[in-house]
Amino acid sequence: MKIAFLYKSKLALFSIQFLILTIFIIAFGYSFQIEFDSNVIEERRLVIQFLSNYIMYEFNIGLIFLYFIWMLVTLIPVIALQKIKRVIIMNTITFFFPNFFFYIFISKYSPLYFEHYGIFLFLKTLLLGLVIILFSFLLVLFLKFIKNFRKDVIIKDISIIEKQTKSKCPYCGTEFNSIPIYCYKCSKQLIPDLGDNNGNYE
Ligand SMILES: [Zn+2]
Repeated sequence: MKIAFLYKSKLALFSIQFLILTIFIIAFGYSFQIEFDSNVIEERRLVIQFLSNYIMYEFNIGLIFLYFIWMLVTLIPVIALQKIKRVIIMNTITFFFPNFFFYIFISKYSPLYFEHYGIFLFLKTLLLGLVIILFSFLLVLFLKFIKNFRKDVIIKDISIIEKQTKSKCPYCGTEFNSIPIYCYKCSKQLIPDLGDNNGNYE
């Protein structure tokens, strides 16, 4: 129960999502180029650069990479939470955090760059954010569809098995929920002998 609770908690999901994003970004050496204002100190550059690698992209292979890793982590709440509203909230929170700090820092510490490119950055954020929400929505619907489909198949299977095990005595008309060897009402044999104990037919 505790593990299930932890698994479904927002903080746990957030951590897992960020861990996966970080692993991919480091493993592929992904980096978004920012032309910082000249007076930005090194530590601030590092922090802003670190944040931008999670959310910013050029319209090239970087776009494909960034969208791919975000679609990948979008899957995690879909599987863990399965409810459209909760999945969208979770994925929005995860996407919101790096964006929030990125925009605060870049507008404060590199204002010239932000003045020039802020609108483009924001459009990219909006686009990726919308795709994440849409993808979450479609994935939950798809998962529901698969589940219902499987349920239908199982119910059909059960009703077929039920029909197969029902039988009726041809002599007195008594109905059974199984296929007995003898009718309990008229004692007639219902299943003919198939052979002796050794399996030999006469
Ligand atoms: Zn009978």
